[in-house]
Order: sequence, then structure tokens, then C-alpha cells
Amino acid sequence: MPSTQREKTMTETYVGAIDQGTTGTRFMVFDHSGGVVASAYKKHEQIYPEPGWVEHDPVEIWENTKDVIQLALQEEGLDATQLEGIGITNQRETTIVWDKETGEPVHNALVWQDRRTTDRVEEIQEEDKVEWIREKTGLECDAYFSATKAEWILDNADPIKLQRSRPEDVRDRAEDGELMMGTPDTWVIYNLTGNHITDVSNASRTMLYDIEGLHWDDELLDEFNVPREILPEVRPSSDDETYGSTDADGFLGAEVPVAGALGDQQAALFGQTCFDAGDAKNTYGTGSFMLMNTGNEAVSSDHGLLTTIGFQKSGGDVQYALEGSIFITGAAIEWLEDMTLIEDAAESEELARSIDSTDGVYVVPAFTGLGAPHWDQRARGTIVGMTRGTRREHIVRATLESIAYQTKDVAEAMVSDADIDLSSLRVDGGAVKNNFLCQLQSNIIGTEIVRPVVDETTALGAAYAAGLAVGYWDTVDELRDNWQVDRRFPVDEDADIEVNYDRWKDAVERSEDWARDEGGD
Ligand code: ADP
Repeated sequence: MPSTQREKTMTETYVGAIDQGTTGTRFMVFDHSGGVVASAYKKHEQIYPEPGWVEHDPVEIWENTKDVIQLALQEEGLDATQLEGIGITNQRETTIVWDKETGEPVHNALVWQDRRTTDRVEEIQEEDKVEWIREKTGLECDAYFSATKAEWILDNADPIKLQRSRPEDVRDRAEDGELMMGTPDTWVIYNLTGNHITDVSNASRTMLYDIEGLHWDDELLDEFNVPREILPEVRPSSDDETYGSTDADGFLGAEVPVAGALGDQQAALFGQTCFDAGDAKNTYGTGSFMLMNTGNEAVSSDHGLLTTIGFQKSGGDVQYALEGSIFITGAAIEWLEDMTLIEDAAESEELARSIDSTDGVYVVPAFTGLGAPHWDQRARGTIVGMTRGTRREHIVRATLESIAYQTKDVAEAMVSDADIDLSSLRVDGGAVKNNFLCQLQSNIIGTEIVRPVVDETTALGAAYAAGLAVGYWDTVDELRDNWQVDRRFPVDEDADIEVNYDRWKDAVERSEDWARDEGGD
């Protein structure tokens, strides 16, 4: 680097974002215009102890977090003192319990995809408590959320690891306040600052938090046998008071305030500058998550969507969102790769364009059940409509179409619930590189799709939250000015999709309630 450029770089300041995701952890550094200055990424191990169980090692995650921060700074010749603040965004719902004294996890993290508590959830459903839970938390009672995961860890963590002899001791220690629980934001904040804190958006995904009263709910804690003592303090997503700072004598060698945290999907909403009621985004990653800001009102859904907390800036009201969570979208493209129907994800576009239609083939990628708006834990993947003439192109195109149809299911539910017309939908995530998918999506939902230049909106949202808190940015208008369109996909009015969409609904029905008895998981 020329010396003048280095000098300039050394005096400039930035904001960092830790993106602690399901497959890996990324650290990104952003400048004032929202541009990416540095980035490093590391994957962590996916642990599958039994079918349907998914775990991560929290220690590996923390080690990787430190590594990627150092790596990103080193690669671009930046110094930690140039960071005015750090924000965190994270895989949501994933649950970790650790020892308050030693900081050691008592069990691996139970990942959001983990289905081991399905039976427990069905017990609650049979007890008719679903509506009661929805009213308090805005969530659909499902194994996806943290509550049953925390309960499982407290009941099953190996007491030997805790140097205790009886399983009851794990729970006893929790009740005595000797353990701490948290989602990955809390785990990372704790390791960075020593403080036990989460933000409102992450708290709203635990199924233990009253999203209107804004407090941990005693009745839910009772129901799920989670002692209040182990829960973190809940703070605004962008917090002037900050969550604490890194230690000048620690791994970073500088005291940097940690001032923002948002669950990954809420971070993307924030990064896409969806600050006002009616603003919506859809992220196409492993799964897809469509969120619509509904302002200060927690809109309850009659159509299988979740009501969740979007974000809160310190001193401001909580902003709510409606969310449609689709479990498998990009992961269905990965499945095509695994099945060697395509060589890489990009080839899906080429193959889909090489034919005019799927010839009546529908793929429903319900590999782990169906999320919004169907909520069927026992649905499984289905391909219908095949004939002797079906070729891989048809399956590939049908898989891409399934991503767009699942989004339509959610978008329709959202428009009905919020009573707001979608004027445009901002998109991000790995799969929006696929122009065929973006255009198809626009035609299928009948709404313009807009793809921004910076597609790392999740990390950007976390940086924005922290940067606003420490005064790196003064107003959200500055952030709006940073947002730039890469490409718009207007609706092709000639596209005829209604008939096909009806057939899609038929195909979904055929995938439902499949994994029963021995044919199950
Ligand atoms: P996550 O954050 O959930 O790990 P990403 O946002 O990195 O996911 O997106 C990765 C996903 O995007 C993968 O599931 C991959 O199959 C999908 N993907 C990547 N490129 C394409 C493409 N050109 N067409 C369709 N899907 C794609």
C-alpha cells in the first residue's frame, strides 16, 4: 500500500460487525458510506449426534470470532483502535448455557434447526397452550425457538462436566444462579465484555419474552422450567449506554464499545433501511425470511406468520415486524448439488432458462417440515408431477420455482395480516445473485423486486445499530442515503402464474403430515 494511502487509512475510523451465522462467523468492517473495508470468515463444525439433532460447539464459535476479527484487521492493515464500535448479528434461537464462574458451556449449543424437542412441543399443543403462547410471544409454538431447547439442556446436560454427580444438580445450579443462558449474541457479548446481555430482537425469539410488556414472562418461565436467574438483561438493539467494551489487555488490545445487537433477520431489515411501517425485505439464504416493519404496533397474524420485535434504538419505541420464516430455500439448491443434478448453485439459473416450464413438475423442499404459513413439523420433501419425460432441467427449475412460491405463500399472508399493499420488496442473501429467481419472484408475487448494491445487509445492519449508538452515524437518514439499488426487477405483466400457483398449493398438501410413525425422521 502506498504510504500516503496507509496514513489516511490509519487515521480513519470505522465500525465493525460480527456476523455469527449458522454455518460460520464473519467479521466485517464498514466505512461511513456503508462500504466494506475488511472482511474475514471462518466456518465451524456442524454436529449431528442423531437424526434431527443439530449442535455447535460454542467454544469453537468464540475462537473463530476472535480469529476472524484479527484476520480482517490484519489483512487490511487496520488497527483495533480505528473501530469506533462493534455490532453483533447472529443466528437466532440457537441456545447456549454456560457456567457463570468458568465461562464454560455445560453442553453444546442446540441450533435453531434442532428438532429434538418436537415431542415436548406436541405435548404443549395437546394441552391447548398454543394460543396462550402466541398471545404473549407472537410466536408459533415450535421446537425452533429457544424455550424447549433451554429446558432440554437443563434436563440433560452431563452433570460430570459440571463436576456434579446427579443430573438434578444442573438444574439446581441454574436455580442458584450459577449458570447463564443466551443466544449467540449473548454468548459473544459475554465473551467480549464480560456482561450478560441480549437485545430485544433476540429476546423476542426465545418464546420466553413478553413482546408487548417487554419483560421475561414468569408464566412461560414456569411452563418451560427455565429459572429467571439464568436469563440475560434485555437492552435496546442500538444502545447509547453500550453493552460494555472489549478489554484493552484482551485479544483485541483495545477498548472498543460493543453497542448494538440484532438477530440476523432483524439485522437485514435494519441494513436494508426498512425503518418505517410497510417497509419489507426478504433474505434468501439457507432458508428465507421475509420481514415487514409494522411500526409501533405488534400486529398479530391470522395466517401463520410470527409477530416479532424488529428493533429498538435507545430512547425510542420498539418497532415490531411480521415475519414469514421459510426453512429451506437456498438449501434446496445445495441439495441439487448434493444429488449432482447441478455442479454449482449458479448452474441452476442456466438450466432453468434452458426450458420454458417445469412441464408440470413441482418440488416441495419440506426437508425439515414446513415453516410459515403452514407450520407442519411432519411435512417432508416431495416431487410431484413427474413423467417419463422429466429431465433434470425440470427438477432444477421446479426447485427454483419452489423458492418463489414459498415466498408468495408468506407474502400473501403478510398482506392480509398487515392490511398493507407491498409496493416493493427489497431482497438480499446468497441466492439473489440468481437473476432468473429474482424475475420469477417478481412475477409470482406481482411486486417489484429491488436488489441493493451491498448484499451483506445482515452485517451492515449490525454495524448501523452499533454505529448509531456511538455517534459514528447521527441519523437514520444518513443510512437511507447509503442504500443504493443494484437492479430492479419489475413485474412482467404477461407472465401467467395463477394456474401454476394453484397447483403449487396442491403439491404442498401432498407433502404435509408425512413423517409419522416409523416412516418418520
Ligand atoms: P446463509 O447466510 O444462510 O448461510 P447465504 O446468504 O450465504 O446463506 O446464501 C447461501 C445460499 O444461497 C446457499 O444455500 C446456496 O445454495 C444459495 N445460492 C447461492 N448462489 C445461488 C444461485 N446462483 N442460485 C440459487 N441459489 C444460490
